[in-house]
Amino acid sequence: MYKCINNRISKEIINSIYKDGFLIAQYGIYLKRTKPYKVFKIPVDAGFSCPNKDGTLDREGCIFCPKMGRPIRSDKYCNSLYSLEYQIEKQIEHYKKKGIDKFNIYFYPGTNTHGKPEELKKLWDLALSYPDVIGLSIGTRPDSFNRDIFDILENYINKGYEIWIDLGIQSMNQKTLDFLNRKHTVSHTVNTIKECKKRGILVCGHVILGLPNETWEDMIKTAEVLSKLEIDALKIYPLVVIKNTKLEEIYWKGEYKTLDRKQYIKLVCDFLEHTSPYVLIQRLSKDKIPEDIKVSPEWKLSRLPILNEISKEFRRKKTFQGIYYI
Ligand code: SF4
Repeated sequence: MYKCINNRISKEIINSIYKDGFLIAQYGIYLKRTKPYKVFKIPVDAGFSCPNKDGTLDREGCIFCPKMGRPIRSDKYCNSLYSLEYQIEKQIEHYKKKGIDKFNIYFYPGTNTHGKPEELKKLWDLALSYPDVIGLSIGTRPDSFNRDIFDILENYINKGYEIWIDLGIQSMNQKTLDFLNRKHTVSHTVNTIKECKKRGILVCGHVILGLPNETWEDMIKTAEVLSKLEIDALKIYPLVVIKNTKLEEIYWKGEYKTLDRKQYIKLVCDFLEHTSPYVLIQRLSKDKIPEDIKVSPEWKLSRLPILNEISKEFRRKKTFQGIYYI
């Protein structure tokens, strides 16, 4: 089994990325420089619900989350109709043919820590039982943890696995979280990140730009607070209005407007300028949303062109990630 020698993000490697002229601490480049083989994240759907939808906290869910509640991506084998084994094996088989050597299993749709610790452990043990699986990424909410879950995850780290939590943060502004009907607090996010850091669990926060009523200052504060917490990585997205959501109702009433492409590019640059240079950036767009369920924005969300435009804007401004981070 592969052993994760250092479960901390290496500042030296990130420095080497900037030294080579990159303006963003891109996770893909970091991966290439730290792993002696190609790694791919395999998404799996283990059928988890969400406490914000199943009645544990609420039944409405976040205002931007589709009511159907299942993935809005179309990976052929990431489907809870299939067993977990089938989803993993089929995807390993597929990506091995494409030259990928090692895998991280990404428990993606729903809240993947919303269950009894012993049941969660069974699923995670199964995923880690494949010889080419080097770790897990677990998509969840900041309030869906307890000591037993942290203990199980820490135990995997002690065995040499790389464990990431993909944490739905969205914003560090409580008023925004309340408007979004997140049903958790900023303190949940702070405490979860701190506990993960203490135990060597890597955290990738998901943040949305262009949320209703958020000011430029609110967004920049989110960048600064998460940087101070030494979050390991971020995925940054524009808010997308999807059919059959509360947000869609608000949108059609004319009470919310999505960012246009130029505004988004500019905001991402501002956000990154105020983010620590040592936070890895995993994504800067959300490109898996099928066009037939997307209401707004109309512009294409493809990742690479957006990354290129952001880099171009940085060059124009002569700035880069972290330039204004104190
Ligand atoms: S926490 Fe995630 S899955 Fe649950 S309602 Fe909100 S966006 Fe949807």
